[in-house]
Amino acid sequence: MRCKKCPQRAVLGLPRHNLSLCGPCLTDFVRSQVQRAIAKERMFGPDQRILVAVSGGKDSLTLWEILLKLGYKADALYVDLGISGYSERSKDKVERFAREVAEPCGARLRTHHVEEEFGSGVKELSMLIKRPTCAACGTVKRYQFNRVAWENQYDVMATGHNLDDEAARLLGNMLQWQEEYLQKQSPNLPASVEGFAKKVKPLYRLTEREMAAYAVINRIDYVVEECPMAKGAKMLVYKDVLNRLEAESPGTKQRFYWGFLEKQEKAAVNNHHTMSDIDQGALQPCTTCGQPTTASTCSYCRLMAKAKTAPA
Ligand code: AMP
Ligand code: ZN
Repeated sequence: MRCKKCPQRAVLGLPRHNLSLCGPCLTDFVRSQVQRAIAKERMFGPDQRILVAVSGGKDSLTLWEILLKLGYKADALYVDLGISGYSERSKDKVERFAREVAEPCGARLRTHHVEEEFGSGVKELSMLIKRPTCAACGTVKRYQFNRVAWENQYDVMATGHNLDDEAARLLGNMLQWQEEYLQKQSPNLPASVEGFAKKVKPLYRLTEREMAAYAVINRIDYVVEECPMAKGAKMLVYKDVLNRLEAESPGTKQRFYWGFLEKQEKAAVNNHHTMSDIDQGALQPCTTCGQPTTASTCSYCRLMAKAKTAPA
């Protein structure tokens, strides 16, 4: 199989684009899709400060690398969840990448340790409040991403969610008719109110396979293992279903998610509102920490309060 763009041998076929590409052409392709996502969704400009949430996995480390290669000012945040073994291994990958690739570009890594703040990791935290680990973990991560971005005046916060993640989430939200989540599922959530950082997903045009190939070709060393807390089992089923449809008819995933985004955009234009109006509704500062919330106390502060009063 030849590369469609140059005479070299192809390393990856992209049936959805009717393309096959060699290593260097795949690298160009991935970077240009990221650039296109940034421009199309007006995510950020060349002078803005970006905070990338990095987990040590392939998508987020690769996103950090691409933004730096494209010349953006991108620092990163790693949230150390205190999951024994897994968190240390993830942190090692993140720190090594920061040292070898990011710092020479003038970027820095920030780290938040859940154990330092709470005294133990998210697993213990979730057991104390009798909630699933993934739910507690999600609350902690969302809160810390926003806090660190806001307190350090980053213009925007970026995560490594890719097309597979977003299509699977869309399918889940539709199957359950989670209308509120559907409204907010966007690769660009503006900073709607004081205290809420703008959030973007620059990889929404790229599949998991393309990201994995990019990481291998560009020698990005990442944690391969999944989180041992068996996160999002449902998500894996949705991804599997979408992959089977994709094999039958290439482009399904992209048509599904991008089609949704187009409809969302049209509806917003017709109704004269933007994504930021949707959020604005009933948000007010949390009485404990000040972050915007729809309740009087935000879900993070409620979680922490519950953990403090739980019988040991
Ligand atoms: P996941 O929910 O694990 O699929 O992760 C989705 C995105 O959230 C990743 O691409 C990262 O950008 C971010 N992320 C997940 N876990 C962490 C973490 N421990 N620290 C910082 N960012 C994270
Ligand atoms: Zn709060």
